[in-house]
Amino acid sequence: MIGEREKDLVIRIMDLSESAIFIFEPANFDIVYSNPKAEAIFGDNLSEMTCYEGVETKQRPCMDCPFSNLQDGQERIMERYLESFDMKVKLKANGLTWLDGRRVVLCTILDSDALLQIKIERDINNQKQFEEELRLSGELYQSVVSQLKTIVFEYNYIQNSSYTSQLFEKKFGICEIEGIDFTAEANTQGLIYHEDIDTYKMLFNGRNDDFREVICRMNEVSGRIAWYRISIQFMYNEAGDLIRAIGILKDEDEIVRSHETLRYRSDYDVLTNIPNVNRFYIDAGRLISDNRNKQYAVISFDIDKFKLINDLFGMETGDDVLKHVAQVLRECLDKDALFCRVHSDVFFVCIEYCKREEIIKLIEKLRKGIYDNDFAFDVNTSFGIYLVTDRNIPINLMCDRATLAGRTVKANAMKFCSFYDEQYRVEMLKTKDIEQDMNFAISDKQFVMYLQPKYDLESGNICGAEVLSRWMHPVKGLIQPNDFIPLFERNGFILKLDEYMWEEACQTLANWRSEGRTPVPLSVNISRYHIKNNDLVRVWKQLINKYKIPTSYLTLEITETFFYDSDDMYAVLQNLQDMGFQLEVDDFGAGYSSLNMIRQVPVNTIKIDKDFLDKKMATEKGKIVISHTIAMAKDLKLRVVAEGVETEEHVEFLKSSSCDVAQGYYFAKPMPLEDFNRLCYGIA
Ligand code: C2E
Ligand code: MG
Ligand code: MG
Repeated sequence: MIGEREKDLVIRIMDLSESAIFIFEPANFDIVYSNPKAEAIFGDNLSEMTCYEGVETKQRPCMDCPFSNLQDGQERIMERYLESFDMKVKLKANGLTWLDGRRVVLCTILDSDALLQIKIERDINNQKQFEEELRLSGELYQSVVSQLKTIVFEYNYIQNSSYTSQLFEKKFGICEIEGIDFTAEANTQGLIYHEDIDTYKMLFNGRNDDFREVICRMNEVSGRIAWYRISIQFMYNEAGDLIRAIGILKDEDEIVRSHETLRYRSDYDVLTNIPNVNRFYIDAGRLISDNRNKQYAVISFDIDKFKLINDLFGMETGDDVLKHVAQVLRECLDKDALFCRVHSDVFFVCIEYCKREEIIKLIEKLRKGIYDNDFAFDVNTSFGIYLVTDRNIPINLMCDRATLAGRTVKANAMKFCSFYDEQYRVEMLKTKDIEQDMNFAISDKQFVMYLQPKYDLESGNICGAEVLSRWMHPVKGLIQPNDFIPLFERNGFILKLDEYMWEEACQTLANWRSEGRTPVPLSVNISRYHIKNNDLVRVWKQLINKYKIPTSYLTLEITETFFYDSDDMYAVLQNLQDMGFQLEVDDFGAGYSSLNMIRQVPVNTIKIDKDFLDKKMATEKGKIVISHTIAMAKDLKLRVVAEGVETEEHVEFLKSSSCDVAQGYYFAKPMPLEDFNRLCYGIA
């Protein structure tokens, strides 16, 4: 029996033997040991098999195994035909007892080298066949994958050879690669789009997994830059050496781009390409809550009369204005500032600040940037500012506060921005007060009619008067229309007030008539909010019937905003004109109306805005514009009234320009009825 130490020695000797050696147990044919040479000839894991499986490549034991009855110490040399090698080999067999007492046979193959030779040749052939199969299946694969827009490439590190599918060459103009990392080789260096090289490199960084995948852009030979999913399968041999790498490119351009578009759409405003309000809320909310040591302001702004720009100049021009605003925001704001388009013409901005003045300066810069443009009209903006004092309120509430502050700007022509702060809160309270008081004020007759005479420039006589409201508040005293009309327009109360003033006007005309006087025609203001109120014609019919006054004594002053709010506007105006009312376009020149546009609308008179007169009169060029406007209006058979006539110079100029009527402080300020009666009829 072989001892432990002897066994080790024997095995070491057998391992080094030039001949193939294996030991098997004849009782069950299990191979107890095989040396490397035997493994090389008969295959790995020989010792896990039975000798008929491993050596004879048979399913069953040889019926006439010559070694099965060898006694301990007995030796036999014989020739044996090995079917799997198709040759006869010389074998030497020794019977012995193994360490554990088992009876075994040590078998030495004397023709080992010849067998090995055959095995190697066979392996080479097998490999070739395998490669051929691989190539064939590759072609099949390729024809399938070409349908799927998949491109294959391979690099073999043992042979330093490469394979690229036809589509690879077609897409990238390259048929051979010199390594799997395109960026490392001269001929493939330009394949990966430069911005995505870092992403691509991740395929080769770090641990060598079997499989890696990235998505990046590649430069195609056509010039197209497309998103590809690049997958690489690395293959290692048992020793852990990299032997092959197979790559697959899948064109996912459409998928990636549609994802990008979706993501972009959810974050950006498609028209202006600046962030949308969702993005803004997320970013600004985070900015403000993450930087508690810094001061932030949330600003809201919109374009004055934007709807009118759209109506007058078309949506496309309106869009251009919005794009222009977006461009100004991009150019004027610091890179840390956040901004977005909320909807239509509303924008939000969030900035860090130290002093209030900085904010005003920035707003002035934005306003100027927006105002300086090539549009044929003025683009003005109103800003509301919320200084973030309470970080615990949600960002949308901060924005609401800024917007609320911005609304107070519209009510005041002298202001372009307003802070939401104590001052604002006071204003809000005032507004609340007014709203509480207004209904009672009507029944309490607190609204008083003031009349401002209009003068015929040729004769110098009073030829009419404008009805203007004043609020005689029992506590606050006299309130001017600028302090309540804009608010009433917002809360809808203007409809009630106007009807009340119209009735006052009709009452006055009726009184004059009943007193036997020739009434001076009265002009009343009609807020644009009446357009939506279809009752305009009906209300006037009722008033005329009630007070029995000819409609020729009444002029209805409408602003240009009338012309764009409703499709039925034309019919309504025509109806009123047919009833005999004079229709006058108030504040002509202040907005965007042109004579060309007005000639399509049934009106009788234009009333040149006081600002228009004020600004234009200052220059020679401006004077030419006014006198031409008047001349053209007269060509269109329109009467011309000028308001805000304050100086003798104004009067002379208007006279020389053939303006028909003038209204203004030069002649008289708006006055209570008694004063007007005195002035006009000499009633004491
Ligand atoms: P408006 O219809 O353009 O009225 C002319 C305004 O110009 C009046 O201001 C008048 O006092 C003022 N004005 C007249 N002459 C001169 C002048 O020489 N220089 C200057 N600087 N101003 C002059 P007021 O009465 O404060 O009315 C302001 C606006 O409020 C009116 O402008 C009108 O749009 C609106 N308004 C007044 N009362 C009513 C009303 O009862 N209903 C409606 N819907 N609007 C009204
Ligand atoms: Mg007016
Ligand atoms: Mg006016």
